[in-house]
Amino acid sequence: MAPHKIVCWDCGRAVDDQYADTCPACGGLLTIKMDLEPLMSKRPEDLHKVPLGVWRYKDFMPADPARKVSVQEGGTPLYPCGALGGEIKIKDLWVKYEGANPTGSFKDRGMTIGVTHAVEIGAKVVGCASTGNTSASLAAYAAKAGMKCAVFLPSGKVAAGKLAQAMFFGAKVISIDGNFDDALRAVRELARGRHLYLLNSINPYRPEGQKSVLLEIMDQLAYDVPDRIVLPVGNAGNISAVHKAITELEEIGWISKIPMLTGIQAEGSMPIVRAFGSNEKDFIPEENPETVATAIRIGNPVSGRKALKAIYDTGGYSTSVTDEEILAAQKLLGRREGIGVEPASAASVAGAKKLRDMGIIDKDEKVVCICTGNALKDPDTIISSSDPPIRSSKDILSIIKILSM
Ligand SMILES: *Cc1c(COP(=O)(O)O)cnc(C)c1O
Ligand SMILES: [Zn+2]
Repeated sequence: MAPHKIVCWDCGRAVDDQYADTCPACGGLLTIKMDLEPLMSKRPEDLHKVPLGVWRYKDFMPADPARKVSVQEGGTPLYPCGALGGEIKIKDLWVKYEGANPTGSFKDRGMTIGVTHAVEIGAKVVGCASTGNTSASLAAYAAKAGMKCAVFLPSGKVAAGKLAQAMFFGAKVISIDGNFDDALRAVRELARGRHLYLLNSINPYRPEGQKSVLLEIMDQLAYDVPDRIVLPVGNAGNISAVHKAITELEEIGWISKIPMLTGIQAEGSMPIVRAFGSNEKDFIPEENPETVATAIRIGNPVSGRKALKAIYDTGGYSTSVTDEEILAAQKLLGRREGIGVEPASAASVAGAKKLRDMGIIDKDEKVVCICTGNALKDPDTIISSSDPPIRSSKDILSIIKILSM
């Protein structure tokens, strides 16, 4: 396994306690310091013997490949999107389709590393709070590892596909009377009491796996670094992980240009956008986040400060989009590119369109939108935004009449 240690993101101290979710000394956020020395003498092609996927990048990962808990995550398509690009006036537009992961969202990238680490430290029970996709993913990886799993969901607010997955993979599903932030508070307390090993993105191992989305994009573009990467921001683990991957590639000298990280939130749930708008390093949590994009319906993002640093350090941007803009972008992806994403994922494309209209994104930029989750996660939303089936008798003539309408 690649040499590494847990350190405090704020004060830099090393942290030994595997169950800590914040720095014991200063209460700061945790991160992993990787020793990248072994990569210094390598080139990206040296890793290509392993197929595209998270474990191609084992030299960047703090987990033992010999003990990996994997259902072959990552290796998702990077689609060139000319038709969509024509609609939103960005010529060189790409979509990284994370809905093609085993459980249908990018969460699987983090979970393979997080659950492998849980096995390494001998954890017996794993758990998380979730708006849906984290629980779907953790439930699957816990099943694969033969571990017990408990997931905590905000009552009544989880998309049908995600809830179905968590139940189906055999997790103990607990519906908390409150929102995501309340569920997370509860599960962190359980982790501190050692009742379970916490696999939310506040766990420093999970984001390490999520770095792989950026590493794959670079391989898929043959290291022609994009000008900008646009992604939805909820708890902000993903944008922080992408930023960490960029920093590590810079450290080992594989890239010299830095893509502008551009974080998109929903208008009803936008603490990071507000902080960015007033040039703050920290954000003010929102009490009652609300949006159709349930995966980013988060008022108190645990990695919010990391997200702001990612955006500032890369010269990126942050803006919000309305639910209408999200649903319109979701439809465009489906109708122009044949790509089915859940609402939160469409926020990236809606945000790219808005920033292009505002002139923040230049027409000649090479832009990659990360589309985080599969349309089938939230069937109710796509059904209600589409025309219902047309009823017909069995008789061919009446079917022909319908076809010619
Ligand atoms: C988890 C998730 C997000 C938000 O990612 P963060 O790391 O919490 O910012 C966005 N879209 C989908 C589909 C997700 O599952
Ligand atoms: Zn600290």
